[in-house]
Amino acid sequence: VQTGSKPDISREKSAELYEKAKKYFPGGVNSPVRAFKSVYGTPLFIQKGDGCFVWDADGNQFIDFCGSWGPLILGHNHPKVREKVTEVMQNGMSFGAPTALENELAELILKNNRYVEKIRFTSSGTEAVMSAIRLARGFTGRDKIIKFDGCYHGHSDSLLVKAGSGLVTFGETSSAGVPKSFAAETIVIPLNDRQAVEEAFARFKEQVAAVIIEGIPANNGLLLQEPEYMKFIREACTANGALLILDEVITGFRLGLEGAAAHYDIKPDILTYGKIIGGGLPVGMYGASAEIMGHISPDGGVYQAGTLSGNPVAMAAGIAQITELSRSGFYKDLNTKAQEFVASIQRFATARNYRFKVFTAGSIFWFAFTDQEHIRTSAEIDAGSMEKFKVMHRELLNRGIYLGPSGYEVGFVSAAHSKIELEKAKRAIFEALDV
Ligand code: PLP
Repeated sequence: VQTGSKPDISREKSAELYEKAKKYFPGGVNSPVRAFKSVYGTPLFIQKGDGCFVWDADGNQFIDFCGSWGPLILGHNHPKVREKVTEVMQNGMSFGAPTALENELAELILKNNRYVEKIRFTSSGTEAVMSAIRLARGFTGRDKIIKFDGCYHGHSDSLLVKAGSGLVTFGETSSAGVPKSFAAETIVIPLNDRQAVEEAFARFKEQVAAVIIEGIPANNGLLLQEPEYMKFIREACTANGALLILDEVITGFRLGLEGAAAHYDIKPDILTYGKIIGGGLPVGMYGASAEIMGHISPDGGVYQAGTLSGNPVAMAAGIAQITELSRSGFYKDLNTKAQEFVASIQRFATARNYRFKVFTAGSIFWFAFTDQEHIRTSAEIDAGSMEKFKVMHRELLNRGIYLGPSGYEVGFVSAAHSKIELEKAKRAIFEALDV
């Protein structure tokens, strides 16, 4: 489909690779959103990344705002990360035994985080959250968990659930293959709704092990919650003997060194972190007080393990990345730059009277085709507006800007985006909005 004032980019090589990939992988991909089902065209096969740029197999260059879905806060192929990984790799790539590198990354994380005393590394965010839930259940001796409609926590069985009809519902499976009995242990409630929280705790008295919420829900648009609401959830957990699991896979080390917990000034009982602490390599982590973490094997009875947990190469990338993030002024510079970028996009759209709003926190942004001042729940997102995003996505690709291929996904500004590139990106976004 060709509209707008720019010709479509050449995708011949990507299209060829995609045809091949379809022979090997379901849908031609190893993670569903990559299949470009919600936008025009076929997936771009990425060949190279450097700084804020990526290049696809056809040699098209893009300013990248996906950043591997968040972890590349320093940009692609950061020299410090690459050097550390290369150095550590000379000594072998996996031992399945402890290494000093795990201590080093743990020290960097714990030094920067007042909310946890002990951590356990995993290889993905999904694993981190799945393990955190098992820990909450093991610690409290309760089975049920409360999750919010519109929050994503990875693809473990307990969390592939969606709301049924009604304010407080047993989850219905959102994927084939999840037993109904598993989903029945997950209670799904809307965000931004105090009554739902109260009702859930009242109905399932002394059965709820944990409430899990994203630091800032950022997987279904950017659903900014009010600080008082987050505090309310914290208090409701305490009053009902349930643990609060704050899933900071997106917000951890993104909003600042202490993530959304510090942003909202709430103390979670268990924190989950993901990809960002691996600097682009597969790492996740969950952490809590020494008392709660004492329930994890081999100290306690909650079993959790992993051959590649604490993998030295992944630890190396994490150490290099977090060392950079810990430099004084890092977040101030990044967040100021990102906020200026999104503010000028908003000013442009407002001046043109477009139904368009950029929701934002720190260096995270979400383009929403709406005139609502706030969108705090998934129910408030107009599914029809995704057609507009689809057009915008194509227009931006044609202008050398890469966003995640779905209007429900957020974008990320990295430290590698210079003022020059942000200026270029802004101009492209203005043009795309005008189409
Ligand atoms: N939790 C949140 C908040 C996420 O955004 C994600 C993935 O983006 C996950 C958990 C799952 O992480 P992973 O994809 O590394 O398994």
